[in-house]
Amino acid sequence: MFEAVESSFLVPFDGTFSIKKVSTKHKGKVPSKKQYHKNLTKLIEKMSDYQRTLYAHDHHAILLIFQAMDAAGKDSTIRAVTSGINPAGCQVFSFKQPSSRELEHDFLWRTTRCLPERGRIGIFNRSYYEEVLVVRVHPEYLQSQRLSEPYNLKSIWKERFESIREHEQHLARNGTVILKFWLNVSKKEQKRRFLSRIEVPEKNWKFSSGDIKERGYWNEYMGAYEQAVNATSRPWAPWYAIPADHKPFMRLAVAEILVKTFERLGLRYPKLNKSEQAELEQMRLLLEQESAYSRF
Ligand code: ATP
Ligand code: MG
Repeated sequence: MFEAVESSFLVPFDGTFSIKKVSTKHKGKVPSKKQYHKNLTKLIEKMSDYQRTLYAHDHHAILLIFQAMDAAGKDSTIRAVTSGINPAGCQVFSFKQPSSRELEHDFLWRTTRCLPERGRIGIFNRSYYEEVLVVRVHPEYLQSQRLSEPYNLKSIWKERFESIREHEQHLARNGTVILKFWLNVSKKEQKRRFLSRIEVPEKNWKFSSGDIKERGYWNEYMGAYEQAVNATSRPWAPWYAIPADHKPFMRLAVAEILVKTFERLGLRYPKLNKSEQAELEQMRLLLEQESAYSRF
């Protein structure tokens, strides 16, 4: 079942991905609330076990990248899939408009500083992909980046794709397992969620008029997403286009892909060599002797 989820949402590596051909809606039966919680709990338990082994094994880091239009559910998906994970082994970073300090550096600098170390899971809520998405839709943002002039608007995105591919390949070669999720919400569902943010007082804080402005560039964003995921979905850093109109389905799909990836890694607890085992044996004897003479 997991393989089916993985392969049906995987963005092919040959540049043939078309947004028009993928659905924002789940396929098949929607799980009941009870079934959803049961399935998610099982997946989370597995992830929690795998995370412990990841930490002990200490050879790989996991990097999860989430990109999406506003209100697609990045936050709640991240919350759901990390809910059972030891917080000490997992860090979430959100990337918003770059600060003036960040703008002093190349576009991969600010995320590189936040990459997970071996044994850890790092989650990027938005990422360097914004540099070929929002910046592509609003090329005037390039002016604040003080690039060496004159830059060529025809070639800059291709150059950035190349930099991203090489960056990710470098990370993968050095033990970082990269998974990228594009949460594919429909324009209609986004409208429904925005309206709910306006109508429900507890959700008012989530509403931002800027989101409505960006919604006006929907087609430009879809064009930018299509090109970006086509140019950067590779075996060492695959993209998954996850239908996002039904949140529980989306969260289960992401969790299943994570579990499947962990399974494939073949993580194991480190094995002790003979002298280390002998040392453990000595320590056991010491502890046992201590209890024999202890007053407590
Ligand atoms: P939420 O709305 O759920 O709180 P968010 O990720 O949308 O989360 P916001 O503060 O609403 O956070 O928006 C962050 C904004 O920063 C997004 O519109 C995003 O496109 C923008 N952004 C991120 N990286 C860059 C970048 N490198 N250059 C310009 N804008 C960026
Ligand atoms: Mg936002």
